[in-house]
Amino acid sequence: METERQLGNDFKAESFRKQLHKHPELSGHEINTALTIAQQLRHFGLNPQEGIGGHGVICTVSGEQDGETTLLRADFDALPIQEKATHSHVSVNHGIMHACGHDGHTASLLAVAEKLAVTPPKRGKVILLFQPAEETGVGASAMLNSAELKQLKIDNVFAYHNLPGQPLHEVVIKNNTFACASTGVSIELEGKTSHAAYPENGLNPAKAMIEILQFLEGLPSQYTENFALVTIVSAQLGEEAFGVSAGRARILATLRSDCNSTFHAMQSTIRLKLEEVGKGSGLGVEYSWHEPFNAAVNSSVHVDIVRTQAKQLGLKVNELREPMRWSEDFSEFLIHYPGALFCIGSGESHPELHNPDYDFPDEIIETASTLFMSIVKQLHG
Ligand SMILES: [Zn+2]
Ligand SMILES: [Zn+2]
Repeated sequence: METERQLGNDFKAESFRKQLHKHPELSGHEINTALTIAQQLRHFGLNPQEGIGGHGVICTVSGEQDGETTLLRADFDALPIQEKATHSHVSVNHGIMHACGHDGHTASLLAVAEKLAVTPPKRGKVILLFQPAEETGVGASAMLNSAELKQLKIDNVFAYHNLPGQPLHEVVIKNNTFACASTGVSIELEGKTSHAAYPENGLNPAKAMIEILQFLEGLPSQYTENFALVTIVSAQLGEEAFGVSAGRARILATLRSDCNSTFHAMQSTIRLKLEEVGKGSGLGVEYSWHEPFNAAVNSSVHVDIVRTQAKQLGLKVNELREPMRWSEDFSEFLIHYPGALFCIGSGESHPELHNPDYDFPDEIIETASTLFMSIVKQLHG
């Protein structure tokens, strides 16, 4: 163990985080980020497995006695946003930045890896999972579908996201749904243009477009038992030409719900409505779903573990009444295994996630890694 401690000694989580921040990579393209993470794990004396479900990395630390298996997850992809900052770790990759703090989530989990390399769990196993492609909602599923993960028996899963707008270090938890299900839907209506003086010679999708927009606006009122939201993102009809009666239309919207069955019911209702509009209007109707996320549904047992350990560490705990309206693909892990997703406050006046002036607050790396270690200690001794 002494050798491992020496190997890990030069690790500074904050500097590592800043290095990741300086060299961000987009979802699905995180080759160097994954290499850097695996290299650091090896420096700790651990034995990472790379290329799991894409650029994913997993690293198992085993205790000497039998016991449960706990998976801790951090994501590591960045966003197509041009950073607006003057600090020394500003992104060197034009138009790409760590605007969601995944650099910080990864640095936190590496801080846990450093601690576990020195003090492994007594019982069972801890799997440190570093996940690519969270922002596009495909990374978690790809890792879960890998042969390496499928053969593992996992008893508990935990992950955190930093949360601007909440006091620094505050632990934000919620039983049941923590973050909503969501998807984008793109609807294309194909008619036929004609001279604007003779619209009867074409097939103008204006009426069908209005019908679909009204239907989408009214859809949430059909699902009063759970939270349901439809947001119209864009609607376009025809071209800007006074001589032409429109021949096509396009509507983009996003759907959200705190309940996976309501969410899937909303999708089915949209499908049926579009078939009906297509049959009634003679228009060609096509639609596609984009970046779908299930709701992240927590187990109360696991939320209780987070709550207890956070309180023991003297951290302020905030119990949410409503779930977060945003989505997180840790939901896929929570569909397979019981666990909890929680947040740690990034500061009340901290720039919002996905803003060009956002930068992960390094102060919470220690908070997150200490909390993860307390959870490991409770479950694994
Ligand atoms: Zn994000
Ligand atoms: Zn994020």
